Amino acid sequence: FSHETTDVQKLVTQAFNDFKMIHPDFRFTFDDDVKKPVYAQIYRNHLEQLLIILLDNAVKYSTKRKEIHLSLSTDIRYIEVAVQDFGEGISKDNLDRVFNRFYRVDKARSRDKGGNGLGLSIAQRLVEGYHGKISVESVVGQGSIFRFHLPILRDPELLAEAQAETDKVEKIAKTELP
Ligand code: ATP
Repeated sequence: FSHETTDVQKLVTQAFNDFKMIHPDFRFTFDDDVKKPVYAQIYRNHLEQLLIILLDNAVKYSTKRKEIHLSLSTDIRYIEVAVQDFGEGISKDNLDRVFNRFYRVDKARSRDKGGNGLGLSIAQRLVEGYHGKISVESVVGQGSIFRFHLPILRDPELLAEAQAETDKVEKIAKTELP
């Protein structure tokens, strides 16, 4: 979708702080394995939207134990974000379908929570549009963990330097042409 470079670590930290402030009745924890800028090629508002969908759901479907755990980690190719709640969980039968458009596990009960079953389908389309993946693990009565990963853009400074070098060489080549 995008050529915008976004610092994922910074945005996840911001989302964590925002949600902590908006939901003082929840205990939020953040396990940040990265602690420095890490970039992905994604529109800033798309990443924000993704985080909001997952964090909003975690809040919405945690009625008893109000605790949410966010984590951030990287491997060679990907940056991974995980949102874990200790809420109502999702049964095996429903797990495959939560990413479907308009799908809601409990239609009657979910109605009073607002929403129309679009959040996760949008999240999935966004992540896949950026060559990433989203998945869920859940146990009824224990909670859920939603994970998504996005390809890391390595060293945008180096990329920028390389581009500047190319531009310089092209400029010199042009000016020195007879
Ligand atoms: P909205 O469109 O506002 O996001 P929604 O929450 O119903 O509404 P989705 O985000 O797509 O829609 O979620 C689909 C369904 O998956 C929900 O209705 C809910 O039943 C289930 N679900 C999603 N997240 C969780 C969660 N963290 N814990 C338990 N169930 C969840």
